[in-house]
This record gives sequence, C-alpha cells and structure tokens, in this order.
Amino acid sequence: MSQSYNNSCKHVFEYTMFAKNMNMNEPQQNWARNYTYSAARWHYPKTVEQVQELVRSCRKLKALGTRHSFNSIADTTEDIISLEHLNRVMEIDRERRTVTIEAGVRYGQLCRYLHREGYALHNLASLPHISIAGACATATHGSGDNNGNLATSVSAMEMVTANGEVVVLSHEHDGDKFQGAVVGLGGLGVVTKLTLDILPAFDMRQCVYENLLLSRLENNFDAILASAYSVSLFTDWQSDRINQVWLKRRVSDSAPVALEAEFFGAKLAIRQLHPIAGHPAEYCTEQMGVSGSWHERLPHFRMDFTPSSGEELQTEYLVPRQHAFAAINVIARLRDQMAPLLQISEVRSIAADKLWMSPCYQQACVAIHFTWKKNWDAVRNLLPLIEEQLAPFSARPHWGKLFMMSPTRLQSLYEKSPDFQNLLRFYDPQGKFRNAFLDTYIFATARD
Ligand SMILES: Cc1cc2nc3c(=O)[nH]c(=O)nc-3n(C[C@H](O)[C@H](O)[C@H](O)COP(=O)(O)OP(=O)(O)OC[C@H]3O[C@@H](n4cnc5c(N)ncnc54)[C@H](O)[C@@H]3O)c2cc1C
Repeated sequence: MSQSYNNSCKHVFEYTMFAKNMNMNEPQQNWARNYTYSAARWHYPKTVEQVQELVRSCRKLKALGTRHSFNSIADTTEDIISLEHLNRVMEIDRERRTVTIEAGVRYGQLCRYLHREGYALHNLASLPHISIAGACATATHGSGDNNGNLATSVSAMEMVTANGEVVVLSHEHDGDKFQGAVVGLGGLGVVTKLTLDILPAFDMRQCVYENLLLSRLENNFDAILASAYSVSLFTDWQSDRINQVWLKRRVSDSAPVALEAEFFGAKLAIRQLHPIAGHPAEYCTEQMGVSGSWHERLPHFRMDFTPSSGEELQTEYLVPRQHAFAAINVIARLRDQMAPLLQISEVRSIAADKLWMSPCYQQACVAIHFTWKKNWDAVRNLLPLIEEQLAPFSARPHWGKLFMMSPTRLQSLYEKSPDFQNLLRFYDPQGKFRNAFLDTYIFATARD
C-alpha cells in the first residue's frame, strides 16, 4: 500500500491508498454510482494528528463523508481524506444538553447511542446512513414546520484548517463566523468533531394516508404541513392527487390510539408502504401508528436496508414557504415531461435558520425533491425546464444533489455568498480545499 511517489503530498502515510492500487481496480464512486471520484490518493487517518499531518503535506485535498452526494461537491483531483475511522461518539454533556462526536460518525450510530442514554436529535433526513459532517456541510434536512435543517443542531465544530491548525468555532463564542462555517460545503477545512444540541428522547407514531387531492392541498396547505411534527407528501404528479402523505407525530405514551380513517379526504393506509410503488415496504420505518422511538420513525428508511430505490439520481429545490403551493402547481404541469424519468417526488417543509449557505437562510422553505431513474442524459435535459419554471420563486438547489443552474444565478440567490467567499479565503488562503465545484459555484471562476 505505502510506496514512494513524486507529487504534491510530501509524505506517504500508512493510511494512504492510491486510487489505482486500492482494493479497487474499480474506480471509486459515490453511493448512487453516478459519480466517479477523480482523486489520485485516498487517506484514512485514525487520529486528528494524522489529519493535521495530511493537511500540512497535501497541496489540494477534500474531506469525504459517506459518499451520498450525487454531484462533484466532495471530489478533488489530488487527495481525499475519508474520516470513516474517526467514528467515536465522544461525550454527552447533560448540563448543556449536547453530544460531541467525531466527524466520521453516521446518524444511525449516533441515534442508537443517544436513545440508550435517553436523548434525541430534533430531526433526521430520510435515511440514517449518512455521516453527520457530510450532512451538515450540505444543509441536509428532514421535514417539519418547526424543524430547521440538520446543521441547525450544531453548536460547536472542530476543524483542521489549511495550515494544519485545529480551530474550534462555537455558536456561543464565534457569532457570524460560526453561522458561516457550519454549512461549509467542505471548503473551510477538515471537520474533525461536531457538538450537537440534543433533546430528551421521545416516541413517535407514523401513519400514511393515500390519495390526497391537490385541490384539498391548495385550500389547506398550511394546515396539512402543520398537522404533525414531520410531514412528507409523496407524489409522481401523474394524477390530481398526492399519492401518499406521511405523518410523523410525537406521542407522550405508548398506549394505542385510534387512527383517523381520513386526513383531508385522503384514506388511511392499512398496510406498510414504500414511497416508490413496487419497492419493498419492509425497508421503511414502521407505520400504521405503531409507537416507537424517535430514531426509528423520523427517517423513512431503516438503517439495515437500502434507502430509497438504490438505482437513482436525485434533485431537490427549496422555495420560500410563501411560494410553495404556486411552485407545486408549476411542477404538476410538467407531469408529461417528468413521467418517463421520475420514480417519486417528495415535498417537505423546513424552518428558517441563520446559516449563511443554507437554502433556508432567514426564510422558511418548502423543498420539492425528485428521485429520478438513472438516466442522466435525459434528466439533464429536463432540469433546465424545471429550474426555469421555479425561477420566479427563487428556488435554490440542494447542495448535494444534481442541478443545472448557472453559477451566477446560484450565487445571486445567496446574499451571504460574498461573506462566505471571504470566510473561505480567511481559513484557506491558498485554496487547498477548493475543488471544481467550489470554483464553479462559489467563486464562479468557470464560465456559465
Ligand atoms: C438515498 C439518499 C437519500 C437522501 N435523503 C436526503 C434527505 O432526506 N434530505 C436531504 O437534505 N438530503 C438527502 N440526501 C442527500 C445527502 O444527505 C447529502 O448529499 C449529504 O451531503 C450526504 O452526506 P455524506 O456524508 O454522504 O457527504 P459526502 O457526499 O461524502 O460529502 C458532502 C460534502 O460534505 C463535505 N464533508 C464531508 N465530511 C466532511 C468533513 N469531515 N469535513 C469537511 N467537509 C466534509 C464534503 O467535502 C462535501 O463537500 C440523500 C441522499 C441519498 C443518497
């Protein structure tokens, strides 16, 4: 594995693998296998000191989470650092109600630990398989009118910056800088630890209703999204209905309750469902109102199974809450163009936050998500049409998913973009953590 080589990294580390030698005559790909990383060397440090050593030695590098992003955001042509071995839950501070983790920890692992200790996180994404550092870096979110994205639970972060120094930023002490750094798009340094706010553990019930008429949604949009702790609307847009409404409600005791047979005219599902027709429902977290712990209800998919479809591409746009129904309407009108490509869409709500590069910066949003069939040539032709239709609503694409928006347009949607550029320059003056994605979409050095 270790061998000498002549390139920008001064040393060869025992935890370094060469792309062409790794157990991998196969190219290294992301989770969806739609993206092949171009990094020459892969590093798997086990300590923060090793991360520091690497950062000092490499010219260009990028931290990688669990590879669940669909685009090039986590790639580099030179050195990739995976933090999968830095995967310890460090400590719970019961007084401050926080937990500190190493950056390679996945939500599934942390949730089980927190639950045993009597604590919870405020929200989760659709799947527990992703790393916490990667999710927070891209403003990954779940649903719920009162739930900010997952990065909003970060109260402090430790990172190794370009000169190899360990820097700690906290909500308490670093004000603006902290708000700029949390959704950092991997550009500020290698995050090695995160401290997250926690809540007392709680139980939830999840139930699914089928066939909600779009006309009922129009007149009751706010009431529907406010009707549970977390609400997801799944649709293929092929009829005048939302196919499934998933309601996740907090409960104060585990005694069975009678579930209402109807929800705004939609009918209570009497069997477990997967959001995508024909996919195995046992991959999904328990439904039909059975009470269970927060971490076994907030995600849609179970840790031990493939989430979503597995063979897919994803796109998501977040629109300010006040435009949500209008945005849903314009998307519904594209049903014929979407039909051959779409597996399922999901609509969720997210609370406003103060994180500079979060799509929900100072505005509550509704996210319209698309799980596509794995046909990038066709999807890439459709995305500009969707983006054009959503442009009047200032829709912002999810940082970790596929989009076609021009860099200048994307930058114009983030008022904090110039401040974020300055923050990146402050921590990384030589552009060590800059990759093609950041050059294009944050610094707009590529042509539109
Ligand atoms: C099946 C599926 C379901 C999904 N569901 C949702 C959902 O419900 N809601 C949602 O919002 N998104 C969802 N996503 C998108 C996903 O949450 C994001 O792409 C997220 O970034 C993935 O985390 P990751 O650990 O795989 O990050 P990666 O893709 O590995 O990296 C993403 C970014 O994080 C940076 N990064 C990672 N670790 C570090 C570190 N230690 N230090 C500095 N930077 C770091 C990388 O450099 C890169 O910029 C889903 C994706 C898939 C595949």
